[in-house]
Amino acid sequence: MKRQYNPYDQMCDVLGQAAQLLEIPQSDYIPLLYPERELKVSFPVRMDDGSIRMFEGYRVQHSSARGPCKGGIRFHPQVDLDEVKALAGWMSLKCALVDIPFGGAKGAVRVDPGSVSHAELERITRSYTASVLPLIGPERDIPAPDVGSNPEMMGWIMDTFSAFRGYAAPGAVTGKPVGIGGSLGRGEATGRGVLIAARELFKKLGRQLSGTRVAVQGLGNVGGTAARLLAGEGCRIVAAADVSGGLFCADGLDAEALYAHCTEKRRFLKDFDAPGAVRCSVEDVLCADVDLLIPAALENQLTGALADRVRAPLIVEGANGPTTVEADACFARMGKYVVPDILANAGGVIVSYYEWVQNLQTLMWDEKQVNAMLEKTMCRAFDEVWRTAAGRGCSLRLAANMAALQRLVQTRKIRGIFP
Ligand code: GLU
Repeated sequence: MKRQYNPYDQMCDVLGQAAQLLEIPQSDYIPLLYPERELKVSFPVRMDDGSIRMFEGYRVQHSSARGPCKGGIRFHPQVDLDEVKALAGWMSLKCALVDIPFGGAKGAVRVDPGSVSHAELERITRSYTASVLPLIGPERDIPAPDVGSNPEMMGWIMDTFSAFRGYAAPGAVTGKPVGIGGSLGRGEATGRGVLIAARELFKKLGRQLSGTRVAVQGLGNVGGTAARLLAGEGCRIVAAADVSGGLFCADGLDAEALYAHCTEKRRFLKDFDAPGAVRCSVEDVLCADVDLLIPAALENQLTGALADRVRAPLIVEGANGPTTVEADACFARMGKYVVPDILANAGGVIVSYYEWVQNLQTLMWDEKQVNAMLEKTMCRAFDEVWRTAAGRGCSLRLAANMAALQRLVQTRKIRGIFP
């Protein structure tokens, strides 16, 4: 099925706009329009009933210009190569923007992780790891969690990779359980980064987070954690949505209970008991009358068709690619501030970097230290984006892409073109 919005085309479109504003000739950034490597794998898995089922997966390495490729592995039934290519490209831009020494990659397995047993999921994860083994490793390409994957699965990846190497290789994957080399603070790092991005935005606008009304779409690790942390800062989570629908409550939903139900137990919002709340559609949540909207689900949720009905003046993108190019232009005309994905959700990969550094050096940092470093890196990147946007009179998305593009182009210039 051909997608209505091809996320890879959208990524290239924004990159082209950024290059134009910077007056960078296409010959200087053309390598960024083509992923360095695309691997498609098919592998058999023995299911619990004894049958053999084939699974498909991908690993795309977009750029290794600035360091080892880095990016999560998505487990989703509809994932395709164009989506993985876009996600890999956004990882290159994200790592360049927050200035960590990684390139960008992304992997995926076409499966609904909720539709297979725990043992089957382990066999799928291990077989996928074995299939992409020629590409990954601590010094070449380091996977991490993404939509549909979690720390336990990263542990299986670490174990499978280590079995092939013949020794423990914790630096081969990040977002692992803390007991096998995971970093303290990694679990909530993306959500914490979203909180920092939101707080910095409010600060720049001379406002306070406390008391604001927030709508969150997606209650996985990113959305659920962001909702919980924002509520901790005094925000009211008045609307929330997941794939099963939406919920609205003017007095504010119980974000801790929401986190426990949807994020920790991975249960649907439709089964969440919320006295006084009204059931609504996902669209109602995206268009809710709130101060801040956090799309933290999948790509292409805020489309051109929906854009002029979105009432939140401020949007902080927890998801990768939630806003289409068309919707983005509409938001700019409406005077909304959109903190783009490559900045807003960078907290995860920032702490992944710290995890990798700890693994390579056989160190363990405490959570306070990790959070303080995350805070500093996020604030520095936010400030750079804000200043660029103000100086150029452009959107925060273009400013973020410009900062990232400049770093990537500069790296290519220094390294030169082989041979
Ligand atoms: N999947 C996350 C992202 O999209 C984290 C990637 C990582 O930690 O490598 O940024």
